[in-house]
Amino acid sequence: MGDPLHEQDMTLAALQRVLDAAGPYLDALPDRLVWDSAAEPQLRDLAGALPEQGAGTLAAVETLLRVGTATATASAGPRFFHFVIGGSTPAALAADWTVSLLDQNAFVRASSRLADATETVALDWLRDLVGLPAQWGGALTASATFANVTGLALATHWWAERHGVDATANGLAGLPRMPVLGGGYVHPSARKALQLLGHGRDTVEVFSRDDVGRLDVEALGRRLRDLDGAPAVIIGTAGEPNTGDFDPLADLAELAEQHAAWLHVDAAFGIFAALSPRTAHLTAGLERADSIAADAHKWLNVPYESGFALVRQPERLGRAFGMPGAAYLPGPDDPRGGYGFLGPESSRRARALPIWATLAAYGRTGYRALVERHCDLAAHLAARVDAAPDLERLADVPLNVVCFRYRPVGMAEHELDSVNRQLGEALLDDGRVYAGTTVYDGHVALRPAISNWRTTADDLDLLVDVVQDLGSRVARSQRAAAADR
Ligand SMILES: *Cc1c(COP(=O)(O)O)cnc(C)c1O
Repeated sequence: MGDPLHEQDMTLAALQRVLDAAGPYLDALPDRLVWDSAAEPQLRDLAGALPEQGAGTLAAVETLLRVGTATATASAGPRFFHFVIGGSTPAALAADWTVSLLDQNAFVRASSRLADATETVALDWLRDLVGLPAQWGGALTASATFANVTGLALATHWWAERHGVDATANGLAGLPRMPVLGGGYVHPSARKALQLLGHGRDTVEVFSRDDVGRLDVEALGRRLRDLDGAPAVIIGTAGEPNTGDFDPLADLAELAEQHAAWLHVDAAFGIFAALSPRTAHLTAGLERADSIAADAHKWLNVPYESGFALVRQPERLGRAFGMPGAAYLPGPDDPRGGYGFLGPESSRRARALPIWATLAAYGRTGYRALVERHCDLAAHLAARVDAAPDLERLADVPLNVVCFRYRPVGMAEHELDSVNRQLGEALLDDGRVYAGTTVYDGHVALRPAISNWRTTADDLDLLVDVVQDLGSRVARSQRAAAADR
């Protein structure tokens, strides 16, 4: 034990253990609890002091597999409707294992021609999949948050350039505040990107016409006119998590063109609406943006961590992310350079491989079918909600998210928030299905998102049953508590 050199021949045996565990885990995924609170104590088996000796390869891997398969949140399964989380398609999962097998550093061509060439293909396929012009480029990132960082770093560089400053080299000192304009849908992740880039997360000027956050295009346009030609950045949101709604991207693009502003669109999951003629109208105008942030680990159903930034002028990536040359590194213009100079990270996983594999396996048609099936399932859930006397839908369903609340007959409005909040907690403890709460238009509500390739109508019927079951229990205990007072 101890030195891994003595364990070389354990590699295949350890991988075989993983494969042996994979079968039962994947088979159980459709029916098991999303979260089994009875298994939680097992997490203690991973705690304790750093081992001095080490238990050896097989013992460590076996412990991890035992605890991991018991305590994992089954977010890769069909009944996880919280947040927006995809699963892993068969091809993406196998390709992700391949990434670890090959252990490439997707930093520069000199570290991996395979990773570099595959990233170029994967980005081109993603671009083509969502219907963007061939001259667009991009970079793969760890997440949509880092894709927001990428797009907004380009915006920052562009904006500083308009003020005669190279922000990459010299930072923001001496510059005015960068005007950042958006609607009420601007995601916290875009704010986090602004915070990381030194603009501050509160810098966003929000123009919304209601409590839901719908964009007030006229007000945003007036603000751009007031800025009188000063360069500004607009953030559009394509697919907001409460209801799946979109900012009117074509209107934003029009304003950006009129006022020579930078248009960044956060399209983490909404970008895939472009795949179906039924929903493509939502993304109209996306092709007029300057930068787009999106996720592969959501609706593309690729394992974590996988996001991507697509940009209209790819030559800007090197200007924003080029690094001062250490003598041993290729310079940004060196043919041995690569994506490590075109995005926020340097050493990185070959995350292009699962994207490549899943697109190679299922193609445009397969993904269009997946998006359309999920929209049909959302419509099915909306119909079940509409038909149920104790459920109330709160919003339209443009895509794959259904926003509704539990509302038993006779319960007063002022009691509903507390009942729905408790219901949300009860759902997470119960574990049969997972859905979280939000506040929509002033009301506490559930907002299940359908983005897992395994999900079927049965899973949504179960969601309705569980919500009604737990909802009636919560309502009963609320009434009992009220009667006691
Ligand atoms: C999920 C999401 C993000 C953040 O994505 P991560 O991959 O978690 O970083 C950003 N914007 C929107 C609209 C999202 O739905």
